[in-house]
Amino acid sequence: MLDVALLGCGGSIPVSHRFLSAVLIRYKGKMCLIDTGEYVQVALKELGWGLKNIDYILLTHYHGDHLFGLPGLLQTISNSERTEPLTIVGPKGLDKVSNAIKLLVPYLPYELVYLEHPDNIQFLDMEINTLPLQHTIPCLGYSFTIKRQRRFDVNKAINNNVPKEHWSKLQKGNTVIVGDVTYTPEMVLGEERRGLKFSYITDTRPIPEIPSFIQTSNLFVCEGMYGSDDDKEKAENNYHMTFREAATLAKLGNVDELILTHFSPKLEKPENYLLNAQEVFPNKNLGRNLLVRSLKFPD
Ligand SMILES: [Zn+2]
Ligand SMILES: [Zn+2]
Repeated sequence: MLDVALLGCGGSIPVSHRFLSAVLIRYKGKMCLIDTGEYVQVALKELGWGLKNIDYILLTHYHGDHLFGLPGLLQTISNSERTEPLTIVGPKGLDKVSNAIKLLVPYLPYELVYLEHPDNIQFLDMEINTLPLQHTIPCLGYSFTIKRQRRFDVNKAINNNVPKEHWSKLQKGNTVIVGDVTYTPEMVLGEERRGLKFSYITDTRPIPEIPSFIQTSNLFVCEGMYGSDDDKEKAENNYHMTFREAATLAKLGNVDELILTHFSPKLEKPENYLLNAQEVFPNKNLGRNLLVRSLKFPD
């Protein structure tokens, strides 16, 4: 099971009823945090999943609404008795962030590891991939994929005359050679099964690379800085998106559910514009503080 919590859904500046956009992912007791705007500590505290097991902090980019909570958060994590290294990931320019952190919080009881623009990261048995986006400064989108093991197919194993003593080895993906006979996992495994996928795209124009990057996500959280179609020009000029543009990506990406986030502080009632997304992609929802989704394999 992969738990995804939206910590907030605001863009640019924090407003009283909306924390800034950030997401916490929990998988097998370990956590990854995406973005650290101001008040991220407050949102994390309200969520109540703790801080100690955050192994990765993934930064989309270095605008203040995604970054300014980082030094304070790192300081507070010190109080959680963490001693294992914590990895900070981000696009080009991460050395400047690391210098600022050294200056602001020089004494941490755990090591910080910096990883600038990796293509992918292996996190337990989950793969994290990155996609360069199109914003006013370098920016990364992230996707999280958990593959599902294929089921053991007894009939297939029997039909292929595979001796029982080799079944468990083959099920684990090993090949067994007995004399001049080779038994492969393919001889005992059933069809491929759909895994779990979560994608997070914020602060960008809707570039053509996004639909394949988010393809068949169970959950796609995407920025919708502007609700009204009339703000499309503003979205183009500021390198953001409208609700309709985000919904179009969700449709092209064949995702199960779209959650909109990163609303402009001027967008007081995003619900008034939800129809613009609905017309393109029906399974859409508005982000809100501390909204949680648990993604599970279907039985
Ligand atoms: Zn932003
Ligand atoms: Zn930005």
